[in-house]
Parts: sequence; structure tokens; C-alpha cells
Amino acid sequence: MITQEQIDALRGVAVKAGQCLIDGAAVSSVMGAQLEVISPLDGSLLTTIAAGDRQDIDSAVAAARRAFDDGRWSRIAPAARGRMLQRIGDAIAAEAQALAVMGVRDNGTEISMAIKAEPMSAAGTFRYYGELCDKQYGEVAPTAPGTLGMVLHAPVGVVGAIAPWNFPLMIGAWKIAAALAAGNSVVVKPSEVASLSLLRLGEICHEAGLPDGVLNIVTGTGIDAGAALGRHMDVDVLTFTGSGGVGRRLMEYAAQSNLKRVYLELGGKSPLVVFDDSDLEAAAKTAVGAIFRNSGQVCVAASRLLVSRNIHAEFTNRVVAMAENMPLGDPLDLGTAAGAIASEAQMNNILGAVDLAQSEGAELRTGGKRIHAETGGYYIAPTVFDNVTQTSSAVQKEIFGPVVTVQPFDTEDEAVALANGTDYGLSSGVFTRDISRAHRMVERLRAGLVHVNTYGGVDNTVPLGGVGQSGNGHDKSPHGMDKFRNLKTAWIQL
Ligand code: NAD
Repeated sequence: MITQEQIDALRGVAVKAGQCLIDGAAVSSVMGAQLEVISPLDGSLLTTIAAGDRQDIDSAVAAARRAFDDGRWSRIAPAARGRMLQRIGDAIAAEAQALAVMGVRDNGTEISMAIKAEPMSAAGTFRYYGELCDKQYGEVAPTAPGTLGMVLHAPVGVVGAIAPWNFPLMIGAWKIAAALAAGNSVVVKPSEVASLSLLRLGEICHEAGLPDGVLNIVTGTGIDAGAALGRHMDVDVLTFTGSGGVGRRLMEYAAQSNLKRVYLELGGKSPLVVFDDSDLEAAAKTAVGAIFRNSGQVCVAASRLLVSRNIHAEFTNRVVAMAENMPLGDPLDLGTAAGAIASEAQMNNILGAVDLAQSEGAELRTGGKRIHAETGGYYIAPTVFDNVTQTSSAVQKEIFGPVVTVQPFDTEDEAVALANGTDYGLSSGVFTRDISRAHRMVERLRAGLVHVNTYGGVDNTVPLGGVGQSGNGHDKSPHGMDKFRNLKTAWIQL
């Protein structure tokens, strides 16, 4: 899908300064302010992006509202919408290599993962929702004779989407493509840490012929552009992926403004439960990938390993050995298995969480420190903590970095209690050869997603969403459109 020669040809290409996309035009922020984009690969200045604020959000929302109201997208045939989304998907795929390399330079994900998880995944999502556009039916209600009750899907209007810095294209596409498929206009606020690939996506949509104003992108900080979108009186639905703290703010903003619906895809502290009847080598290999790929900056990362006590020592040793043998370093090297931390601030957060865990008595088996500091980039060695208690911060708080804890258990009931014993409920996993136990665990684990004998690699056909403090609502699958439409009843006297 991408060769080292292609990567090397793209790795030094100059990146133009990012502008907002508002009403089909690339524009600077009204105040002219800019933010620096620092590459986590080496700490160098990659480019700048517009520092949008309330005025830019106001223009973008006004453009989105005009586009929605005049029907240039919202009232065209669903099949025509579908063709456009498919065209966009093809255009993303056509420049997947350049998009992937630019995205890696922006947020540090290793290229072997980024090429699949970012442009190719986003292309697939646009094609998927493109195909769905004219395959959505309403309902006819079983009313009494002489009346007709129809249940229709109506687009909500203007959707605000706020994206995180990990997988901006993939997560952005989940929201943008599903919202557009339902007939809405969209205003996107990318993360200030990783805006570049979403800005290019905006251009691609424009080049493919998406009408002006239907998709608008305003870059800027969360506290300026993000909060303005969250507080806007003319945004109907807000869809967010990011941290719980910001999610709480967005619910407050909605309550303080127009009561817009807020859908939150938040963090996790996802458990992977390994029973003693598992294929230990396969389970250990999966566990290592499930926490250390993208240096743990994955919302569904399996950051807690729960292991049958009789295999705890052997299994932990295997995980430690594999972690220590992971090829780390240049994210633009196809052989690298875990890339950089997206920002210096996040690297320091992770190192702070490691220090805290140690001060609480957790046993550091490997990692726990910055590596490759001589590059100027932000890298942390895969980190394994053993001998942690259920109440320790490393077990209870999302670290969002390459840090995993290991806890032994004696019984299935205890495994379930430990697995469910955090505020989160995003993802989970089970390794066992016992099919009945696998089904019991699927039923009992409190999470939006349960993997069995695998972890990750979940495609567009199934929803992703959390329970508890991992959020509400779902991205992906036909259910991914539910957030972006209202049920509308027509009651007709015959
Ligand atoms: P973050 O919450 O710091 O930022 C997310 C977005 O919110 C950014 O665009 C940011 O600018 C914006 N923002 C910040 N403050 C804001 C404010 N006051 N008002 C409005 N917007 C504001 O999250 P992050 O660090 O970019 O991403 C990491 C987090 O996202 C982790 O908790 C991770 O688990 C979570 N995440 C969840 C999923 C999922 O699907 N559940 C996927 C990826 C990441």
C-alpha cells in the first residue's frame, strides 16, 4: 500500500500554511492569528494553521445554515449524495500516501498503522456511507384504517464536529461522512495538535464538487474555536471525540446555549482478560499490539491486562520481552512498530502518570522513560506495570500513552469485577478457548465493544461507542447516522 521509497520522497515536502475552509473558500482567521504546528517526530516547526475563534465559527455556522436551508445538499436525491460521497472516498484513496505521510509528520503515528487507519479507513468510510445514502427507509405505522402514520428521517440541520489528535482523518470521516449522508451541513473543529489532514480532506471534498458551505473547517484551539462551536445557538447537534473533561464542558455549553444534542466518544481504560486456556503466545502478541501501537494513543487501547493467576508470571514475562523488542523510533520508517507521542505536553502528561504510579507502589517491569530525546522528538518506551491495586491511578485513570498494567485474578467472577471496576466502558477483550465462557464474558463485560480472541481491526459494519464515562452515541455502521437525524412523524387523514 505504501513503499519506503514513496515515504522517503514525501517526508521532507514543504507543508503549506493551513487556512480555514468556510463557504467553499480557503480563508485566514478574521483576526489573522496563527498557531504553530510542531512535528512530534523531531520537535521542528512543520507549518502554521489559522487560529480561528468565535467570529470564524460564526461565519462557518452561517454558511452551513444557508447551505442547509436552500437545499443544495439537504434536498438533493439521496443517490446523488451517495455518488458524491463515493467520489470523495475515491479521491482520498487516490492520495492516500501523501495524506498518510503528512498526517504522520503532524501527529507521530507510525506509518504502517497510519496508512491503513487514516486515509484508507477514511476512504472506506466515505464509500460506506455513500452506499448507504439511498438504502435508508422510513416506516409506515400500524395505524387504524382511515389514517396514515409515517415515521420519517429528517436531517438535523447543522452538525458541529470536534475531533481529537489521534486518527483525525478516520474519526473525522466517521462523523463527516455519516452527517453528510443524512443530508446535514457540517462545521468541523480539528484538534490544534493535528489539523493538517482534515484541512486537506476539506479541499478534497471541495475539489470533488461538494457544494460550498456544506462542509466547513475551522482550525484553532479548543478554548476559542471549540468552545464557540459548543456554545453556538445555531448548531443542532454536536459530535465530539476526545477527553472526558472536554466532554463535560460541551454538555455544559449545550445547557447554557440552545440545548443542542451532544454525542460524546470519550476515553477508556479497557481491559483485556486472558484466561489460562488461551493460546498464550497469540494472546501476548495481541496484548502488546493492543496497547503499544500508536504508542497507546488509541481510545480503545487495552491498557489493563487481567491474567489468570497461574499464568500471570509467564504471561507478564512474555509481554515484557515483546515490549522490549518492539522496533521503536522514526514513525516514517515502515519497520517502526510504535511511533511518537503527538505533543510535548502529552509526553509530559504520560511521564507524570508513570511517576505517580511508581510513587503509589506499582512495580515498573520495563519502560517508563523518554527515549530518542536526541532527535528532539517525543518518544516513550513501552511501559509495563505489575503489582498494581485496583484503586491505583494507573488502573483507574486513562493515561493515553504506552502504559499497561497487569493484574492477576483467580476466578471468572473476579475477572469480571476487576474488568468492570472503572468509570469507563469503551472497549474490552477476552482470550479463552472456552466458547461458553466467551459468551458469558461478552454478556458480562460492561463495555460498548467486546473482542474475543483478537483485539482491534473492527471494520465499518459495526458501531463504536462507549458506556459509563466513555460517552454516549455511536460512530460507524448504519447506526452512525442516527445521531444526525430526527425522527419526524407525518399523521395523515385519508
Ligand atoms: P481533548 O479532549 O484534549 O481534545 C479534543 C478536541 O476538543 C480538540 O479538538 C480540542 O481542541 C477540543 N477542545 C479542547 N477544549 C475544548 C473546549 N473547552 N471546548 C470545546 N472544544 C475543546 O482530547 P485529545 O487529547 O485530542 O484526544 C485524546 C482523548 O480522546 C483521549 O481521552 C481518548 O481516549 C479520546 N478518544 C476517544 C475516542 C473514542 O472513539 N471514544 C477516539 C479517540 C480518542
